[in-house]
Amino acid sequence: MTTILLTNDDGFTSDGIRALFQALQQIGRVMMVAPDRDKSAVSHSLTMHRPLRVKHMETDIIAIDGTPTDCVALALQKILKTVPDLLVSGINNGPNLGDDISYSGTVSAALEGTMHAVPSLAVSMTEKTTDYRYAAAIAAELAKLTLSKGLPENTLLNINIPAEAAIKGVRVTRQGRRMWRNAIQETTDPWGRKLFWIGGGSPYTDSATDTDIHAVKEGYVSVTPIHIDKTNHEGIFQLRDDWQLEKNGLQSG
Ligand SMILES: [Mg+2]
Repeated sequence: MTTILLTNDDGFTSDGIRALFQALQQIGRVMMVAPDRDKSAVSHSLTMHRPLRVKHMETDIIAIDGTPTDCVALALQKILKTVPDLLVSGINNGPNLGDDISYSGTVSAALEGTMHAVPSLAVSMTEKTTDYRYAAAIAAELAKLTLSKGLPENTLLNINIPAEAAIKGVRVTRQGRRMWRNAIQETTDPWGRKLFWIGGGSPYTDSATDTDIHAVKEGYVSVTPIHIDKTNHEGIFQLRDDWQLEKNGLQSG
């Protein structure tokens, strides 16, 4: 029987993961192992300075007081009896596009699965909603395709789904550039001392048309294959041939 490990970074009670828990049941047995609270934007962090507690909340639903990466690591190495056929992370409440994916707990959970050689999908809803059924059905379709066709080696799929009304189709995309302006707010505490609060602001993006950002803006589901290997392979040639780094060595070396 097909087994699917389901996780997220918004916590085990979030609407997005609950919709996926339902939708993925048509494919196989779904085991949810997810953070016990919202752990958005924790990236790929691993909890190393305190122990982790595993709580059985409902049938096939486990919550952990850790990060999404903790959940995947524990699920794959301690909790699940067998290696799952697939890992799905999401559905995140909000987009994971462009540069933002480096902060994303949703994408990092899928990265952890990929590192353990489990085919992994990260799924995000780009608009705020409480009804994830349509997005969950799309995620289930992509899960089926992943199981039947397989993924490129060491690669996860980062899937971003726009609002139901906008969806025109699907685009295979590359990761675009998406940065934030005015995303650090200055405020004061009740005693007048200065504080900073990271959040808000407005995103700015590049103008390329083959990116994840452009696809969802145009109303398409964006599917981006994401590598574990972050090496800039062109950059190797620049350092070797242009810098002559290996040939010339370092002054102090
Ligand atoms: Mg989140």
